[in-house]
Amino acid sequence: MLLLLFLIAIPVGIAVWFVGGEAWWRRRRRAALARQPFPTQWQHWLQARTSIYTRVPPQLRSRLHELIRIFVGEKSFVGCNGLTVTEEMRVVIAAYACLLVVNRPDVPSSHFYDDLFSILVYPTPFIVPHTHRDGHGVVTEGSRVLSGQAWDSRRIIVSWQDIEDGLATGHNVVLHEFAHYLDMEDETMDGAPGLGSARAYREWSRVFWEEYDRLRAALGAGQPTFLDPYAASAPAEFFAVVTEAFFEKPRELEMQHAGLYEQLRRYYRVDPARWDVSG
Ligand SMILES: [Zn+2]
Repeated sequence: MLLLLFLIAIPVGIAVWFVGGEAWWRRRRRAALARQPFPTQWQHWLQARTSIYTRVPPQLRSRLHELIRIFVGEKSFVGCNGLTVTEEMRVVIAAYACLLVVNRPDVPSSHFYDDLFSILVYPTPFIVPHTHRDGHGVVTEGSRVLSGQAWDSRRIIVSWQDIEDGLATGHNVVLHEFAHYLDMEDETMDGAPGLGSARAYREWSRVFWEEYDRLRAALGAGQPTFLDPYAASAPAEFFAVVTEAFFEKPRELEMQHAGLYEQLRRYYRVDPARWDVSG
């Protein structure tokens, strides 16, 4: 009996040590990366190449710098279809990804895209195989053109051209795909990320379903909408699209969808409608 307990205790002990040790090493590595100075060149790129950086208030901006340093140092960026991922691309992608969690508790020690290993960057929109099953169960094999994809917990794919075009269009593929990633943290991509309490979930789902149905009804009636119609394609897309609007057009979102804005403000723990437009 004692021998059996002993034999069970050894692998359990090793597993606990391994998991705890890995978290310890990660914290140490991240603290060291966060301490590195933030290059002036990186600031220039962010001022010129992103829509949001100059609006971020100073105390959040220094936190954002730390997170960007960690993200760039820790994640692997892979160029696809012949693209060479430049340092500038890494910094811009990292900035948007980090903005979503800039005020999150525990970050950067944990809950900071911990399982994400690589970001695959395509030069232009890319084609993926797509299987469609209609209401009668008929399956059609085809393909889809995408500007980004939250592939799984290890990989996110984005098109650089869409990131560049986003400056003019207000669509933000990085915010969009990383919002999907956060949505998946509670194991399901259903438009409700991990919210912590049953009360928060109830409130979230009441506001989101109301807004989602309202958008679908408006589109059905042919009315113009502030939110991109793509948001009406699925609850998960609704969350990703409203996340883009929350950071890209916060004042308009708050004005037109106050309840939605408030839920996002609570979840992301930032209030971009109050950020200074002049920078
Ligand atoms: Zn999406």
